[in-house]
Amino acid sequence: MDAIDYQRAADLSSALRANAQSGSAVIGGGTNLLDLMKGGVARPVRLIDITHIAGLDQVSTLPGGGLRIGATVRNSDLANHPLVRDRYPLLSQALLSGASAQLRNMATVGGNLMQRTRCHYFYDSVYAECNKRRPGSGCAAQQGFTRMHAIFGADARLDANAPVATAQAPLAGTQASGTLPVSQCIAVNPSDMNVALAALDATIRVTGPRGERVIAMSDFHRLPGTTPERDNNLDPGELITSIDLPVSAFSAHAHYLKIRDRASYAFALVSVAVALDMNGTTVRDARIALGGVAHKPWRALEAERMLVGHPLDPLALEQAAASIVRTAQPYPGNAFKVKLVQRGVVRAVRQAAEGASA
Ligand SMILES: Cc1cc2nc3c(=O)[nH]c(=O)nc-3n(C[C@H](O)[C@H](O)[C@H](O)COP(=O)(O)OP(=O)(O)OC[C@H]3O[C@@H](n4cnc5c(N)ncnc54)[C@H](O)[C@@H]3O)c2cc1C
Repeated sequence: MDAIDYQRAADLSSALRANAQSGSAVIGGGTNLLDLMKGGVARPVRLIDITHIAGLDQVSTLPGGGLRIGATVRNSDLANHPLVRDRYPLLSQALLSGASAQLRNMATVGGNLMQRTRCHYFYDSVYAECNKRRPGSGCAAQQGFTRMHAIFGADARLDANAPVATAQAPLAGTQASGTLPVSQCIAVNPSDMNVALAALDATIRVTGPRGERVIAMSDFHRLPGTTPERDNNLDPGELITSIDLPVSAFSAHAHYLKIRDRASYAFALVSVAVALDMNGTTVRDARIALGGVAHKPWRALEAERMLVGHPLDPLALEQAAASIVRTAQPYPGNAFKVKLVQRGVVRAVRQAAEGASA
């Protein structure tokens, strides 16, 4: 058994000092970190509990009308907060679709942002090959059970969020599906909350040895590229202090659709977060983000552009949904996700247009 030091931080500066020491890990609700420790995937020597730092557990309005969510706000408190239900129903729906009531009562939003993939091959140390756990060792998932794995972004050249010219460029030495380089990773970001935050253009406030900085949600999580061991762009010693949401024009028309193998207590096969600003039947503005399909929440920027400024007719919606999967790179075990994404987007956009309910 490994000895672990536990420190309850009284304030942010003592948390930062402790977190700067090698082998430290911040702990929020512990619902992910403790599982990783039990499986030997994470081996911190020191846990820094930040849940008693005054102010980090608060939700407050920002001067311009947005919302600041402290990093240790519990998932259930956030989902049920009156301002979130009223102004950001998409976020409330996404949070309530995740995990179970007991887990949501413990889980913090900082921990939810940072939770690690649920790839079986990452969690089970019996598998020697896992580029995320042991960089350079290979990816057992690519020859394994891929039902829960990525269909986008494992090859950065197929990043649909990149400028269109790049995303459509022919691939040098084009590879067939299922034969990505062994250095890569096809794990997905498992969070529901993160998908809603991506659609809502949240920003993440972090603090660390070099001071404070703000990271756009679209830049917070990473594609695997050649460093699949890194899930996000948080630097060593940094911790998340809050999530900021801009003023939203989407409260009346938002929908989070989660498609999964069981009706509850299961991670998404595919999830779709849609937020619309409608002028009658015409789409004034649109946000679409997908979960369960990539190493980070996957924004469907081109599909959004195709919808904006037009009436929401069935053909336009089908075409927008089809544009999303143009860059899909499925495996035999998850090829069903290509159709699921298209149908999920069509259904979620229709439901959002009909009206939000938190
Ligand atoms: C059985 C089960 C089912 C689940 N189902 C779902 C689901 O359907 N959908 C879903 O979205 N999630 C699901 N989850 C995941 C759950 O949402 C996460 O475990 C939870 O959000 C993590 O939050 P936490 O506060 O407990 O994080 P912790 O376990 O405390 O920490 C997780 C990671 O975040 C880091 N961390 C925590 N806070 C900070 C901070 N402020 N700054 C920097 N780093 C920090 C920790 O060091 C650690 O690396 C499930 C979990 C379980 C166990």
